[in-house]
Amino acid sequence: MRTPIIAGNWKMNQNPEETTAFVNAVKDQLPASDKVEAVIAAPAVDLSALLASAKGSNLKTAAENAYFEDNGAFTGETSPKVLKEMGIDYTIVGHSERRQYFHETDEDVNKKAKALFNNGITPIICCGETLEQREAGETNNWVSGQVKAALAGLSADQVSSLVIAYEPIWAIGTGKTASSDQAQEVCQVIRETVKDLYNEQTAENVRIQYGGSVKPANVKELMAKPDIDGGLVGGASLDPESFLALVNYQ
Ligand code: PGA
Repeated sequence: MRTPIIAGNWKMNQNPEETTAFVNAVKDQLPASDKVEAVIAAPAVDLSALLASAKGSNLKTAAENAYFEDNGAFTGETSPKVLKEMGIDYTIVGHSERRQYFHETDEDVNKKAKALFNNGITPIICCGETLEQREAGETNNWVSGQVKAALAGLSADQVSSLVIAYEPIWAIGTGKTASSDQAQEVCQVIRETVKDLYNEQTAENVRIQYGGSVKPANVKELMAKPDIDGGLVGGASLDPESFLALVNYQ
């Protein structure tokens, strides 16, 4: 059985002091991590504070991005090797904001996923369509293509352990959640894509999150869908009360 995974994606919000205060406010009220995994993905500048304050608690930690080389002349980038040395569990890869504003390609996403695995960090790989693509009926093909490109060259064991986040771009930060049926439909397409690429068992193992205006009021309905194993949550993850309501949705 897949363990549900609810991850906050703070984006470029919170400073180290706010990070510590947030973690101190939530850390004793988190579910056991074999019941629901609670994760915070924080900006690189907050990761030390996140790790220090989360130590010994059920909170898992994530970076929001990493580069695909371990070290070298790459000014401004974050090393996956160092993230591992620090003790980071997960890293988000290919968020639509990175694809849109920082020109990340499917190839970059694939290289980053491989570099993270090489360092023992689990990627959370994002995919999702624009409103125009949805209206043109291209959603399923587009998302399936993004997943294929992101997973190229990864082993079945690696894919079994990673997380795919389906985030329709039109639902991110807009207050417009995809309906639970719309979210389920695409998450099912993603699982079928993994089955076609690998096998039934790998498809059964891979965890798929929905992201896009997830909040305490809709998390339960989304999580009840058979192919939705978690949420990637932006705005509603910034407030401790709201984050606790999300991870304790059961
Ligand atoms: P949102 O962001 O929950 O604020 O819509 C989700 C995301 O971008 O991961």
